[in-house]
Amino acid sequence: MPTQIEGRRGGAVGAKIDYRDGRWVVPDHPIIPFIEGDGTGPDIWRASAKVFDAAVAKTSGGKRSVVWREVLAGEKSFNQNGNWLPDETLAVIREHRVAIKGPLTTPVGGGIRSLNVALRQILDLYACIRPVRYFEGVPSPMKEPGKLNIIIFRENIEDVYAGIEYKAHSAEADAVIEFLSRRFGAKIREGSAIGVKPMSKFGSQRLVAKAIQHAIKRRLPSVTLVHKGNIMKFTEGAFRDWGYEIAKERFGDNTVPEAEGGKRKEDAGKVMIKDRIADSMFQQLLLRPDEYAVLASPNLNGDYLSDAAAAQVGGLGLAPGGNVGDGYAVFEATHGTAPKYAGQDKINPSSVILSGVMMFEELGWDDVARAIVRGLEGAIGARRVTYDLARQMPGATEVSTSAFADAIIEHLP
Ligand code: NAP
Repeated sequence: MPTQIEGRRGGAVGAKIDYRDGRWVVPDHPIIPFIEGDGTGPDIWRASAKVFDAAVAKTSGGKRSVVWREVLAGEKSFNQNGNWLPDETLAVIREHRVAIKGPLTTPVGGGIRSLNVALRQILDLYACIRPVRYFEGVPSPMKEPGKLNIIIFRENIEDVYAGIEYKAHSAEADAVIEFLSRRFGAKIREGSAIGVKPMSKFGSQRLVAKAIQHAIKRRLPSVTLVHKGNIMKFTEGAFRDWGYEIAKERFGDNTVPEAEGGKRKEDAGKVMIKDRIADSMFQQLLLRPDEYAVLASPNLNGDYLSDAAAAQVGGLGLAPGGNVGDGYAVFEATHGTAPKYAGQDKINPSSVILSGVMMFEELGWDDVARAIVRGLEGAIGARRVTYDLARQMPGATEVSTSAFADAIIEHLP
């Protein structure tokens, strides 16, 4: 049952999404906060919301709807109240647990709180999740881009995101160097900059567990732990070891390590746990991408991998993202505000639309997610696409952001 009644949409009463015993409790008319985004954000958001509403209405015969609640952040917020990131925005997202956002302008000059950093910290959004798949017809640099269909779970709190860095010649860096050489005999060149890369068993295992849970739920064949453990044994190498450990301890009935072969009869249908060194993983994604389904990675490696994989299937314009914790999730476009196209109804809204697909899947509205993907496939298949795709697709008709949304809606099953 919804916990609290709030807001209306048409005749529908909106209610908050809840999270109990590790599961989402989603009312028929959930209230979902959104940040429309700066620059091209309003064009993209308008188009995306239209697609979401049409898909929800169509799949449920009008029984479900989303009650969208706007919250402010970025330039729009600054122009209205002089604050790039009002506390109220964070409080509303926390209260409603699930939110979606368009791209935000990063103010030049620094000293401004980043929304993503604030949300990651406040809501403990420890998994940055990026599905990467190919849509037939999209221009790609690869010969067989359709062979890549993966989902990357990247640790989102530790490693380089812990943000511990000291400038070369600073008192902090010099003190760390002095301590390490005096105490442990470490040899560090004088005047070096220092970065600290903390990775915990707790942080690594909860990320790997999330990736394994996804693979089990979606019946995917494997989870690959991507690490640089040959060089960084006690951080990256430990990530691999802790990953295998949690797979065995918590998911032993549903997983099998690659080293055991997975050929025994009783292992049929189990998720295979493998590991690859990061540089080898990049090669594998180019050469044999269809051997991988779910990747779990520490922060920095996951960063490179996510963008490189997206490039293989046609770039960031079609790449969605989600920052997910336990009982909290924020979905977002992975590209920026593309300010030169602001207000022109021109840009490709697919990144936010596919972020919505991830959101509906997370909430268990799989029918809605599937319908949107079919609609998008239909629009691209009919070659009615926005400028970025049209300029590389021979014979395509260039359409506006809003017309692209209409084409998706026409193709909803
Ligand atoms: P950008 O906004 O991603 O745009 C760079 C170029 O990428 C665009 O000019 C366009 O290329 C292409 N592009 C991006 N999104 C597209 C879309 N939806 N459809 C079609 N083409 C798209 O990168 P930027 O110009 O470096 O950054 C602009 C602002 O966004 C900055 O303030 C930056 O800090 C911010 N930003 C925010 C986020 C976020 O909120 N998640 C992420 C990255 C950057 P063509 O001109 O070649 O068509």
